[in-house]
Amino acid sequence: MNGIDSFMIIAIDGPSGTGKSTVAKGVAQRLGYIYFDTGAMYRCFAYKTLLEKIEPTDEAGLRRLIEQFQFDIQTDPVGEKHYLVNGLDVTNKIRVQEISNLSSQISIYPFVRQAMVKIQRRFGQQRNAVFEGRDMGTVVFPDAELKIFLTARPQVRAERRYRELLLKFPDLANTVSEEQILREIEERDCKDSTRTVSPLRQAKEAILIDTSDCNADEVVQRILELHAHALQKKGRMKPAYRCVYWTVRTILKLFYRLRIYGISHFRPGSAIIAANHASFFDPPVISVSCPEEVHFLAREPLFRVPILGRVIRILNSHPVSRDASDAHTFRVLIQLLQEGKKVILFPEGSRTLDGGLQPLEKGLSFLVYKARCAILPVYVDGTFRAWKRGAPFPKLWGRIRCVFGSPIEWEEFEGLDKREAMERITQRTEQSILALKDWLEKGAQGEPP
Ligand code: C5P
Repeated sequence: MNGIDSFMIIAIDGPSGTGKSTVAKGVAQRLGYIYFDTGAMYRCFAYKTLLEKIEPTDEAGLRRLIEQFQFDIQTDPVGEKHYLVNGLDVTNKIRVQEISNLSSQISIYPFVRQAMVKIQRRFGQQRNAVFEGRDMGTVVFPDAELKIFLTARPQVRAERRYRELLLKFPDLANTVSEEQILREIEERDCKDSTRTVSPLRQAKEAILIDTSDCNADEVVQRILELHAHALQKKGRMKPAYRCVYWTVRTILKLFYRLRIYGISHFRPGSAIIAANHASFFDPPVISVSCPEEVHFLAREPLFRVPILGRVIRILNSHPVSRDASDAHTFRVLIQLLQEGKKVILFPEGSRTLDGGLQPLEKGLSFLVYKARCAILPVYVDGTFRAWKRGAPFPKLWGRIRCVFGSPIEWEEFEGLDKREAMERITQRTEQSILALKDWLEKGAQGEPP
């Protein structure tokens, strides 16, 4: 996996009122992916036709108009998306029923769709993104690693639309009934799924989720789990790695009741997995808790230990000699991160003597500053009891838990001067690892922070 193909697209399709937007936004937010509502693009073009008084049946007029159509998205300071048509903010104007119907009419034209698809693919390039629409999995991103198709009973969808209308446009809601909305939804479904070009349909590999009887959070959670599996598949572990991975994981599960939390915080691309360090067990425990291949550094003599040497070599460890300069180690790490890989680091520097957390050294912040990559904080519990520093052999049983926290994005530190950025990086990582420890000690309820 290199830095370029390490990005992931999640395609979410389905008819209106199935909760697509809420769910897609939730997934994007939880994963730190960009969110793209392709329906808004069709709506924007529909709005433009209204503005220019072009009938949806006037093919020549539409062809002319699509040539001049300029679409842009801006995010305001509170994170809300604004849709711009030729520079004009139409975010609220495109949500009315007239535009819903119009967008369904103009979206049947192949030349309209081609123009839209081109823009959508451009927005999806070299990014982790969640795209929602009607043809994401079938046409726009046929190679998307995760495809979801949402459905819901028409009655439920009409109820949702009505409630949404009441909330956003109470005046409008008074002028329509739920039955009317239901009829319009059914008409629009029929148009969208019977048109000849890119009809609304479930892609072969798409996973069907019926949202009629669950809330948005439950659907988001389900997609996050599917995402973790997709990531595992995308990473396609090398056969030898997979073999050692499952063997070590099984041993840890059997003897140390290994439990892993927060796997949904994983996403493709480079990152430093920054963990507390309590034992020789930490690198293999963290490696086999990750849903994809990861890398770590190990002292050269360890590679000469029988069995262990082979195991760590297969698990992507990179030798650093005791005499090697920090500059050499640093170059190895930068290279791995530039290739889009994830690297486990122990920013405390050495293993703890008493089981407690130690202050972080500067190495991590310098590396993050140079590589401009994300940090995935990790707290490992139980490895100290299983094999503490100074003990010649590990205990043969125990309880080990590995907790992944939400990623710390590089963008948090962008724009700060070097000294300030490095201080903030250290502070944030330290706080995150502590928060994970706290979360675990308080009973591990819900998702780790
Ligand atoms: O998702 P939303 O209801 O905002 O979409 C409005 C209309 O745009 C849909 O009814 C559909 O006709 C069209 N559309 C499409 N392809 C997409 C997204 C939306 O044809 N990818």
